[in-house]
Amino acid sequence: MAYYYSPFRNKYSKKPSDSGCPFCNTEMMEKQSVKYSDGTIIENKTYRWVVNMFPKFEGHTMVVPKRHVTKIGSETTQEIKDREELVALAAKTLNETYNTDGVEVFLQTGLNSESSIKHLHWHVVSSQASDPLRGFDKLGHFFTIQEDNPKIIIFPVPIKKAKTQLLKALAKTLGRKGR
Ligand SMILES: [Zn+2]
Repeated sequence: MAYYYSPFRNKYSKKPSDSGCPFCNTEMMEKQSVKYSDGTIIENKTYRWVVNMFPKFEGHTMVVPKRHVTKIGSETTQEIKDREELVALAAKTLNETYNTDGVEVFLQTGLNSESSIKHLHWHVVSSQASDPLRGFDKLGHFFTIQEDNPKIIIFPVPIKKAKTQLLKALAKTLGRKGR
């Protein structure tokens, strides 16, 4: 069985951090935000599009509301519209960046889900013909590493573009704002 190699996860803990909700940390979220090649952050009124700093997959991005929304169904009409807009842009840009035609969009929420952060976040992930894990197989391996539960998964397939490399690749695809 193949897995993605994700050394970034080694530093990740499911325990809530002392600094509160990471998705409400504007400075951190702006750092992780996908940007045009001229550095302009991609966002709309209520949503952001960011790369995952602890990626589990190739092309692992997330679309996250600016407001601390924790329950599915409690977004405003504006938020739903803004989310759809960024999911569509993320899908198009990931497809162009990876020269593929496939994305997987998923949300994990609620106590019994594998969600690690309550603040809603939609994973928008590139899907490629060469993926070692596909579709639900991929989701089935969405485990996190917990200090008190050493369910450590080994991922021998390296992620090619992660964090800053992914931000650079997406910016290159997007070009300057208003292209
Ligand atoms: Zn939050």
